[in-house]
Amino acid sequence: MTSDSTSMPPAPTTPATPAEDTPHDARSTPTQPLLMPRASDPTDIDIGGLSAARSVLIALDFDGVLAPLQDNPDTSQMLPGSTAAIAALSALPGTRVALVSGRDITTLRRLADPPPNAWLVGSHGAEVDLGSHADEASDAGPEGSSAAASAADSPTLTADERGMLSAIDSHIDSFEHTLPAGSGAEFRIEKKPFSRTVHTRGLDSVLADALHEHVIAAQDEHAGIRVIEGHDITELAVKKATKGDGLRELIAAGSPDAVLYLGDDVTDEDAFAELEAFSAQRTDAAASETGRPRNLSLRIKVGDAPTRATQRIADPEAVAELLGRIASDRAAQQSAN
Ligand SMILES: [Mg+2]
Repeated sequence: MTSDSTSMPPAPTTPATPAEDTPHDARSTPTQPLLMPRASDPTDIDIGGLSAARSVLIALDFDGVLAPLQDNPDTSQMLPGSTAAIAALSALPGTRVALVSGRDITTLRRLADPPPNAWLVGSHGAEVDLGSHADEASDAGPEGSSAAASAADSPTLTADERGMLSAIDSHIDSFEHTLPAGSGAEFRIEKKPFSRTVHTRGLDSVLADALHEHVIAAQDEHAGIRVIEGHDITELAVKKATKGDGLRELIAAGSPDAVLYLGDDVTDEDAFAELEAFSAQRTDAAASETGRPRNLSLRIKVGDAPTRATQRIADPEAVAELLGRIASDRAAQQSAN
């Protein structure tokens, strides 16, 4: 067993069945059926509304979206095209870039090296960092600054949560005692501030299944433990926040007219659901009451998994191309006005 306290990513998570069949995590389970939107070439995505909006939030998952997935996730790096596009977007007026990840914020910042004014959501929404640029949120709109008062929101563990985390560690450790002597089996544990992620990539499938079943049984001991399942990972978390919660905080802080969210994981479905609800509530109201441009959202799945997103592109290379298009098109729109 290898304990890795530095970083491992949330592995790419693909629901083999609709998420409502996942019993362990009610807050990560969209209640509507997941869909299979047709894959688009990044040049075919309609970005006109995003380019023209007075203020936009560009919210992006990291692993599998900006950075190709790696066998050793600690080596993940953003594609150069996405790095350049994010830098360009972050320099434009009324344009906020946010990274939304299952990684803890410290690791996310180290691996992604985002622009200083980027907002970060880590640990699947449990951590939110608006940095020292929270007071610039008003550039997104006149009503945008009030909710940005708390610049950084990295919660501490309650006594109950500390107890659960300790119980999780003991529970995972106990799996070693179930292994045949001399099996030599190794698996990696990623220790995050609010969770533990067990990685089974490369393990014998029987062993991986046994380990998975053992890990999720921790919830039988503590009902407060949240189980997050994905391809080659099982994560046990003591905070209930989701990426949807994190995205809601970002929207409240920036009050953008338009929002783009790109994600590839099951956990990104919470963000897609949040953005779907946000759009339904605000689209018509914004147009009729303020005369401002219609509130727009683009929900784009990366990869081929079922999703609540309305559009789909193939991979991180397509993401880099799409972000580059948005950056140049938005810059051109702004210079023309
Ligand atoms: Mg991802």
